[in-house]
Amino acid sequence: MNPTLQQDLQDIEHILEQVKQHGIDFLNAIDTIPTSTQNTIDTNANLNDFGLGSLSALEVFKQRLAPLMVSQAGPRYWGFVTGGATPASIAGDWLTTIYDPNAQATKAQGGVSALIEIETINKLLQLLVLPKSFLGGFVTGATMSNFTCLAVARQWFGKELGHDFAKNGITGPLNILTAAPHSSSVKCLAMLGIGSQNFTKIKTVEGNREAIDIADLEQNIKNLNGQPFILISSAGTVNSADFDDFIAISKLKEKYNFWWHIDAAFGGFAACSPKYKHLVNGWKNADSITIDCHKWLNVPYESAFYLVKEQHKNLQVETFQNSNAPYLGDPLENFSYLNFLPENSRRLKALPVWFSLLAYGKQGFKDIVENSVARALQFDAFIANDESFELLAPTRLNNVCFTLEGDHNQEKVNSFLMHLNDKGKVFMTPTVYQNRKGIRASFVNWRTNELDVQLVIKVMKESVLELEIE
Ligand SMILES: *Cc1c(COP(=O)(O)O)cnc(C)c1O
Repeated sequence: MNPTLQQDLQDIEHILEQVKQHGIDFLNAIDTIPTSTQNTIDTNANLNDFGLGSLSALEVFKQRLAPLMVSQAGPRYWGFVTGGATPASIAGDWLTTIYDPNAQATKAQGGVSALIEIETINKLLQLLVLPKSFLGGFVTGATMSNFTCLAVARQWFGKELGHDFAKNGITGPLNILTAAPHSSSVKCLAMLGIGSQNFTKIKTVEGNREAIDIADLEQNIKNLNGQPFILISSAGTVNSADFDDFIAISKLKEKYNFWWHIDAAFGGFAACSPKYKHLVNGWKNADSITIDCHKWLNVPYESAFYLVKEQHKNLQVETFQNSNAPYLGDPLENFSYLNFLPENSRRLKALPVWFSLLAYGKQGFKDIVENSVARALQFDAFIANDESFELLAPTRLNNVCFTLEGDHNQEKVNSFLMHLNDKGKVFMTPTVYQNRKGIRASFVNWRTNELDVQLVIKVMKESVLELEIE
């Protein structure tokens, strides 16, 4: 064995103790660590000939890399739709690394870690009150979940016309209908060879809404004269957290032949709360659903899952079968995740989720969701009442979409946001909503409390004065 590796093997307890202590120090300070940084590194540093050993590498990490880390998992990072990591999810994530199984594994490959993933999906279905007619698995994020679901939808579309797209490639255009798709779904259309421009944009509901207009949808369906199509719908748009009407879409599904996909990356968690579960009423009738765990479930990054109805299992295997590896056996008889999703080898992403579900239960996630919405409404009340700001959309759930008051301030929105973000007390992201420049604050992190919102309000008022915004 290489002598440095030998030394590390002997030091393993000490190494993990040191890393644990560093982690505890970070987590204990997460409230005060800035949400943005100007720190940087020279990324061309040479690789050393001889290993430093893990303890010395940790010292270098602390000096050079740790200063690049902002409090993105902390309570005032409101950019994008960003969760944090709960204690249970960290525990599960650490053990995932320690055990390091290849999560495809079925008996044929020597392990049975797929059972952990299947059990976790079954628990998630219970959390979200969805039927067991969905089969699911873990991928890196909602983008890859959308990809997985839409790839099966693509295969379904081909089959409806008598083609096997997985085997022979796509022939002809596909019919894709959608109203306010997330950018990642559009990216998936590019990745799937469908084409990012090749969808029909359905109107959104009149007024300040991002939800699909059902009458316009039905008119567009009629225009297809009975041809099959794929509907991409939204449970939670990123600007205003709007939801399509899933009861109305369920009724259309009884009349017309289509694949119904729902991007519920964060909005799906509305199902955890009796107050907000009505937003997803009817979603159980979809063919496929995308949900992110690294958002509202507050587990570390690279954790999302897809749900596809079991009746489409054959289409899914046709799409993802790793057909050059016959030793894996019949993909349906001898279940292995590598025949159901894009990746072959993967880590056991289910374990941090499994830990979280056991540790906090239904009540824990109900409380996280309801607290996030309460914080969003607290912030919404400030925006609505302060003379320097105005709401761009009503706050329907956990996202507040706003701008500087008045059209005369439109050119100042981005510089205001940069000024605010540079202070490091909060981080929000820019957006454009109904042709106006705006700012989004998304409440997802389990730690965020009333005092965090009050602190941000104070910093925003200071920024308005500093920039002399009127
Ligand atoms: C965040 C998000 C995505 C993309 O998720 P990633 O995890 O970043 O891949 C897709 N759709 C919606 C609605 C989202 O909020």
